[in-house]
Amino acid sequence: SHNLYAALRAAFPTDLNAVAVETDEGLHYTWLDLERSTAMVANLLKSLDLPNGSRVAVQVEKSVEAMILYLATLRAGYVFLPLNTAYQSAEIEYFIGNAEPAVVVCSSANFGWVSKIAFKAGTHHVFTLNDDRTGSLLDRASHHTDQHTPEPCKADDLAAILYTSGTTGRSKGAMLTHGNMLSNALTLKDYWGWKKNDVLIHALPIFHVHGLFVAIHGALINGSKMIWMAKFDPKRAIANMAKATVFMGVPTLYVRMLAEPSLTRDAVKNMRLFIAGSAPLLIETFAEWQTRTGQTILERYGMSETAMLTSNPYSADARYGKQSERRGGTVGFPLPGVSLRVRGDDGQDLPVGEIGGIQVRGPNVFKGYWRMPEKTAEEFTADGFFRTGDVGKVDERGYVTIVGRSKDLIISGGYNVYPAEIEGYINEMKGVSESAVVGVTHPDFGEVGVAVVIAKPGATLQPEAIVAELKSKLANFKIPKKCFVVSELPRNTMGKVQKNLLREQYKSLFA
Ligand code: ATP
Ligand code: MG
Repeated sequence: SHNLYAALRAAFPTDLNAVAVETDEGLHYTWLDLERSTAMVANLLKSLDLPNGSRVAVQVEKSVEAMILYLATLRAGYVFLPLNTAYQSAEIEYFIGNAEPAVVVCSSANFGWVSKIAFKAGTHHVFTLNDDRTGSLLDRASHHTDQHTPEPCKADDLAAILYTSGTTGRSKGAMLTHGNMLSNALTLKDYWGWKKNDVLIHALPIFHVHGLFVAIHGALINGSKMIWMAKFDPKRAIANMAKATVFMGVPTLYVRMLAEPSLTRDAVKNMRLFIAGSAPLLIETFAEWQTRTGQTILERYGMSETAMLTSNPYSADARYGKQSERRGGTVGFPLPGVSLRVRGDDGQDLPVGEIGGIQVRGPNVFKGYWRMPEKTAEEFTADGFFRTGDVGKVDERGYVTIVGRSKDLIISGGYNVYPAEIEGYINEMKGVSESAVVGVTHPDFGEVGVAVVIAKPGATLQPEAIVAELKSKLANFKIPKKCFVVSELPRNTMGKVQKNLLREQYKSLFA
């Protein structure tokens, strides 16, 4: 059978009484606890007599029990559908209406309005699960046995539907299979050199590919303990490093830890690996981390539709030569088994170093978008490559660099302007912390760039001076026609800059 839970279970250590998860609140879950509790929840789900392929939609605060519910859903052969805890009624109505789950799990506090939405969408079972181990899901599960045989699955049976982060528009449900996720977990175990005694600090939300798949599968498939942080806190994360070896974070987590004086070489001396992804890691953060800790962040790239696609090497990657190392500002090499190519607007392969659309193929690439057959067909090429929607290039040594998203590309007077290029120059200027360049409509040029810039604490920036400095360095068609200095950029929960909101805000500037 290809049941993903069965594969993770097979990797548990022989001593099932060892600690598998240790929480902030001082709770210790053994491997046996995970095995028994997932069996009980799986038996509860089985007792509901759900049709094959039923979705289990879950919007709850992060807890070990929420992870147990995920594993139990896999184990029972149903389809896990996690929802961002920030979503409110309009969003939940859309997702539940769209996914038509057979089971909905929410917090007791939200039960009133969530259950109303669920029943309207035809859901028969609504359970509650809170982050203090209370709620009807666990009450009901406690009446079931702790013996359960994982449901036999085919590799291409659905395991999860992951809604994308909605950075470029409305979220789409990416349908991932047991086979997609197992292949990716095994590849990363090998590529990142997971070791027997590794301990992972789990500090990410678990409704997203990074925290749910990369982190949880990574630890479990290696039989490694997790230090479980319900909420990220930079001071506590740094304190946890004394007893951990691996950390995974979105770039904002690294920025927040760098602001802590307790982040020193000594604090990280037990750590083996720092991994970043989900959004671009500024080269400045990469360099500062190196100076402060003596360790080099490993940046990787992936998405809901494909799990992980590329990664900087843990140690030299034999495919790319003895000199291959982790390079800031790049997302490394295509993972073993992943084919990656860069294509131009007319579908032609581009030469080394040229910027175009990134396309990928591999055992990790999803089955398609849930209930969007046209969209799915549009995003796959005739030879089976998925159009990621990301724009980038591959250099002569094989390193992939993400330059931005095709939706963020600015076409000004007929010329392509890549926001990331302009942002790179602005970020290097004195007193600049970060920036975002977006395109807005313009009567003469079709579109022009607008730069939105954040100053470093204590620095004062003149928008005109920023534009003037760009003019001295770059072709005129690339120069933003307007620059604003603001106090922060709009970001979603994964730390991604929401350029759609900026475009909306500045859309009438020249209209
Ligand atoms: P939507 O598809 O709804 O617009 P989204 O693409 O942000 O949202 P996710 O699937 O969560 O949703 O994120 C995947 C995207 O995140 C990638 O396509 C890429 O643009 C970005 N990303 C991930 N890792 C990196 C990285 N290391 N550097 C730059 N961008 C990254
Ligand atoms: Mg996307």
